[in-house]
Amino acid sequence: MGTEGTEPAGLGTVGMGSAGIEPAEMGTEGMEPAGLEPAEIDPAREAEEPPGSPALPAEAPQDGPPAAAPSGEGALPAAPGRERERERGRCRTGAQGSAGRAVRGSARRAPGRRSGGKSARGPGVTVDSSKAKTSLEALKISLRQLRWKEFPFGRRLPCDIYWHGVSFHDNNIFSGQVNKFPGMMETVRKITLSRAMRTMQDLFPLEYNFYPRSWILPEELPLFVAEFRVMKDSNPSWKPTFIVKPDGGCQGDGIYLIKDPSDIRLTGSIQSRPAVVQEYICKPLLMDKLKFDIRLYVLLKSLEPLEIYIAKDGLSRFCTQPYQEPTLKNLHQVFMHLTNYSLNIHSGNFIHSDSVNTGSKRTFSSILCRLSSRGADVKKLWSDIISLVIKTIIALTPELKVYYQSDIPAGKPGPTCFQILGFDILLMKNLKPMLLEVNANPSMRIEHEQELSPGVFENVPSPVDEEVKVAVIRDTLRLVDPQKKKRKDTQCQSLEPAPGASEELPDAPPSPEAALPSLCLKQVFPKYAKQFSYLRLVDRVAALFIRFLGVKGTTKLGPTGFRTFIRNCKLSNSNFSMAAVDILYIDITRRWNSMGIDHKESGNPGMCLQAFVEAFFCLAQKKYKSLPLHEQVESLIDFCECRLAALRDKRLVWGCGLAGRHGALPATGATPGPGCTSPPRPHGPQVFTLQKSSQLRALMCRDRAGS
Ligand code: ADP
Repeated sequence: MGTEGTEPAGLGTVGMGSAGIEPAEMGTEGMEPAGLEPAEIDPAREAEEPPGSPALPAEAPQDGPPAAAPSGEGALPAAPGRERERERGRCRTGAQGSAGRAVRGSARRAPGRRSGGKSARGPGVTVDSSKAKTSLEALKISLRQLRWKEFPFGRRLPCDIYWHGVSFHDNNIFSGQVNKFPGMMETVRKITLSRAMRTMQDLFPLEYNFYPRSWILPEELPLFVAEFRVMKDSNPSWKPTFIVKPDGGCQGDGIYLIKDPSDIRLTGSIQSRPAVVQEYICKPLLMDKLKFDIRLYVLLKSLEPLEIYIAKDGLSRFCTQPYQEPTLKNLHQVFMHLTNYSLNIHSGNFIHSDSVNTGSKRTFSSILCRLSSRGADVKKLWSDIISLVIKTIIALTPELKVYYQSDIPAGKPGPTCFQILGFDILLMKNLKPMLLEVNANPSMRIEHEQELSPGVFENVPSPVDEEVKVAVIRDTLRLVDPQKKKRKDTQCQSLEPAPGASEELPDAPPSPEAALPSLCLKQVFPKYAKQFSYLRLVDRVAALFIRFLGVKGTTKLGPTGFRTFIRNCKLSNSNFSMAAVDILYIDITRRWNSMGIDHKESGNPGMCLQAFVEAFFCLAQKKYKSLPLHEQVESLIDFCECRLAALRDKRLVWGCGLAGRHGALPATGATPGPGCTSPPRPHGPQVFTLQKSSQLRALMCRDRAGS
């Protein structure tokens, strides 16, 4: 789900029982990348070296981070393994609370650095960590490595960065950067994610076949039953399994497997707590006969323009009972089917490991090394994973933009945002990656509880978690560093010292960057924007939606806004009257509002983005009947954008003409009139150019729309 709980859930909270282990015969045959499908879009095939590069010795990553070896990047001054040891010596004592541990230790000092004094570069970046919650420990290590200034109890003055453990709304912030986007938790909830993926699957079925087919309960139960029956009738030997996941659940909470729609537990919870029922991936890739999934960390650095980074290494979480394809007998065996760490830690078979390539939690790069040593095409796998991540974020951005403009309206002071997301991915036997879910708050804990003696627990470091998570947090901070630009400018100046200017102080500290490993986060967008931009149709629909929202701070479109949209885009005609427009609005809006979606404005009867998207698709189908859906939608977007541009130009002309008539404008520099957004242009020729450009656009519109 959207947020990942940080306390391990007891087995009591899980819907599935934990019956005894059954013998499993499935083994390493699952390792074979049989039936590998060619990449449909292959952005990274040539360019990207996957984590755990095959060039590295398999299973021996301690001499250098397996994840940090892409070609062309320099050798690392300090391998995370060694760095970890040093840090651990300073920062960790198992049984004490994190606050106590946190203040201990200091950053590795560069030789010649003045102790205790301020850096010659100034006070450094300031970070408010008072709301960091369970990510605090990893954050503290990162800040020490960067030599940034931490404010563990907040600060009276504004900070450069606010690190929140849960959501954007943890504080009232008007400047700087926050490590959460408004609305991210809502956007990646199981139901919302499934809806967004369904929209993309409708538009681009092949491109989005990495998300299992899903139905939303309770509203789509009849549809699920009907589709099940059709499939069964056409293929009686089809014996599928489905997984039911409560919306808003996490750590495997309430999840169960079914073989038939009639097994859905309708009593009580499903009505009050909606859920997603999803095709169960029955043939996952196994390792040591165990099912495992991958947690990858993705940095959404900016929404507009879209900037995405992927961490070169992640975690693999293993089941603790050998896998068997689901049967009625083993359906309830949690440790066989669910890879959640919070569940499997309670299994007697769970192996805590000091090594990154053994045990029940390993690095993803160690898995890739192993796959590569068996001849699997890990480059293709890595390229498929990059595609999956970019496509998923493209599916999420429209909703996020609506939330963003609502919380931080343009022109209002507010922070900018970035966010680390946890992508849960399952590899199929044929090595195809499948998205399970996206976590808005992936656990950043770097320790786990261990029972020393009955009832006595101790927090002990988890080297695997630390290796991956500290690097992700530290390098996220490096990427959003507000002083980076300033530093660059200073460096440029110091390269060309003014005549007579004194040289740099002999004991000036070198930048901490110099002592850090190369970034573990790789940019994938806009790097591969060209290959994926055609998928961003719903983004453009969302831009239209936002344009007509009217009231600042809202996320729902009222009936007047919808009518204005139809009028301004000239979508109504003799076949589609304004009365029909109203009916469309009421029908769709009522249905979406009756679904009981946990929305920021649940009480607002207006039209949410998803409802608007549905209405837009309806209009597109009406107008461009013969085309495939994505072409219908694209044509309508083009049409609307052209109409709106023409309208804007027309208003500009009117505004400017009016102002000119009143003699309010100087003859050579027109100020735009009401509704004009363009900068001032010379008065006379402007009218001519604008008329020409709007006529041209109108012609283009007509041409494309065929009207
Ligand atoms: P939660 O947020 O509760 O962890 P997930 O969607 O991650 O929910 O599902 C929990 C676990 O169930 C996953 O880690 C994975 O092992 C398994 N799982 C989820 N969906 C599927 C699926 N469609 N096919 C196979 N296994 C799945």
